Amino acid sequence: MIIDCNYCKAKVDSRIIAQHENYDPDEPGPFITSLLECPSCKNALISGQYDWPNGGGYIRDAPERVWPQPRKTVSWSIPEGIRTSLEESQKCIFGGAYIASAAMSGRALEGVCRHYSTKSKYLGKGLEELKDREVIDKRLLEWGRELQKHRNIAAHAGDQKINPQDAIDLLDFVTAICEYVFVLTEKFEKFMTRSVS
Ligand SMILES: [Zn+2]
Repeated sequence: MIIDCNYCKAKVDSRIIAQHENYDPDEPGPFITSLLECPSCKNALISGQYDWPNGGGYIRDAPERVWPQPRKTVSWSIPEGIRTSLEESQKCIFGGAYIASAAMSGRALEGVCRHYSTKSKYLGKGLEELKDREVIDKRLLEWGRELQKHRNIAAHAGDQKINPQDAIDLLDFVTAICEYVFVLTEKFEKFMTRSVS
């Protein structure tokens, strides 16, 4: 099974030692966990992958390393288009493509504006509107503005670069905004519903 080995820092054709399949009704399909051995460094790796429903059957996702050094998982509460941008941004960081990562982080933020159908199609004004409508607070607006600046650098052909730490931080900021807006807000609403009933 082809997987990224974090020790070798390369894609390797690992040997499958054991596999397990389980199913959570809240998830889209069965989840397959595999215990693997890297053919080069002989270290153990654990991967996870979904079988996605497709017509009457399933399509198996590419395996993702879940141990050691897993990627951050993106919550299912985050709308699909935004989640895809966050995942792509992570993949760019793992691949050393930092300008592309900043562009994807900016795309995720644009997705938040689109989700709330902000009047302005421009990111800056859209963020102001999200703040006015109390979807985000003052601090998240500041993070959003920084993301917007770097997204502009990333999206336009110029000589400016995005350094690796900035790309990682920008992804952390946009992930925090999405978790605040979609995950924690939903969690709090459910919590309050339970408290009232
Ligand atoms: Zn290895």
